[in-house]
Amino acid sequence: MDIRTLGIVTCVCAATMATTLGVMSRLSPADRCLKDWTQAALLFLANSIFGVVVLSYDLHPHPVAVALANASTIAGYALMLSGVRRYLQRPSARQLALLLGLLTLVLDLLPGVRSHLEWRLLLGWPIIVGIHVAVVVELCREPRQLAKPAMKPLLALTLAYAVQQLLRLLVLAQAMFHGAPISLNDSVFTSGRLLMFVYLLLATMACALLVLQDKAEELKRHADVDPMTGWHNRRTWDDVMDAEFQRGRRTGAGFHVVMFDIDHFKAVNDRYGHDIGDQAIRHVAASVAQELRGYDRRFRIGGEEFVVCAPGLQAAVLAERIRARVASRPLLTTNGEVVLTVSVGYGDVQADDADWKAVAQRADQALYQAKRSGRNRVEGFCPPGLDLAWA
Ligand code: GH3
Ligand code: MG
Ligand code: MG
Repeated sequence: MDIRTLGIVTCVCAATMATTLGVMSRLSPADRCLKDWTQAALLFLANSIFGVVVLSYDLHPHPVAVALANASTIAGYALMLSGVRRYLQRPSARQLALLLGLLTLVLDLLPGVRSHLEWRLLLGWPIIVGIHVAVVVELCREPRQLAKPAMKPLLALTLAYAVQQLLRLLVLAQAMFHGAPISLNDSVFTSGRLLMFVYLLLATMACALLVLQDKAEELKRHADVDPMTGWHNRRTWDDVMDAEFQRGRRTGAGFHVVMFDIDHFKAVNDRYGHDIGDQAIRHVAASVAQELRGYDRRFRIGGEEFVVCAPGLQAAVLAERIRARVASRPLLTTNGEVVLTVSVGYGDVQADDADWKAVAQRADQALYQAKRSGRNRVEGFCPPGLDLAWA
């Protein structure tokens, strides 16, 4: 493929990148990385159009046009870096992009450089290598982000691009050293255009995938988590409890369900208002969370009804700790203290339980019993011998 055909392909690719990321950016303006990546794609498009239109008809275009084309490419790469930084929640590098663009413009117009293709390349390519190395460093500083499926291809692509630019630089330096003439149709240029085409294609996919994947995770989080308490909602209850039940049976660690409900909560709402009622729900969840470990399962399954499953802990002990913690931590409001209590019911797994629902039903009955017995108390069903086994 000659450099002109490659230039046309690159134009189409840059236009696709700009359109894809631009549409995404309009749909999700909060993701500022998309704005940087869109603008980078527009600069690549400008450079590609220049390559096709100007270089095809005039192999010696005006130095200012050449300098502008080179400056736009370098600013484009720097905007890619800026987008990566923004994606990683770091300050943008937009000013650096402007600075490097202007620097390229000035360097390319220096007397002695403006009329020599080799010198322009020799000054520009190290900047491109440097920007890509910076992107690799940024990505490697976030091992957690690297676990994302789209991140590794982006890292590999950037690394490959940096290495290729470095190799081109060495080939160019060697040619200059030997005084060999350089033409735009040399493989050192065509390979560069070819890789730019691959870069644009894959960078678009990787960047779009990163953002889409985050959106999908965010949606799932919103669907599964109760916004008031941060605890899981009833939607996930079935799957999580089933997994815990199976795990408890497999490992022999047992399984339990601890259920609790705020006492006389209607009266709290009636007396203090719905806002304080909401605060009370949050307060109870936060207080109980202090009795739990990070990996313990917790759900808000109704208005002021909660479920906890803490593998390895004794249900009776945990239930009492929950009750005591809530009773000893009144909610502090501007109108004074609101004393809150919960009734707690727990159920332990028994040998003939077919699934977790049998255990949950036991906990539910125990909770009902705790309410009937006067509230602010714990009731439970525990198979004989289990207390001793876990003591
Ligand atoms: P009991 O001791 O028997 O549990 O009495 P209770 O008054 O707590 O009775 P119940 O559990 O039936 O009352 C639940 C009340 O919780 C009814 C409803 O108005 C209130 N509620 C449910 N969801 C919310 C919420 O998100 N915020 C507030 N403020 N109130 C809620
Ligand atoms: Mg209640
Ligand atoms: Mg209730």
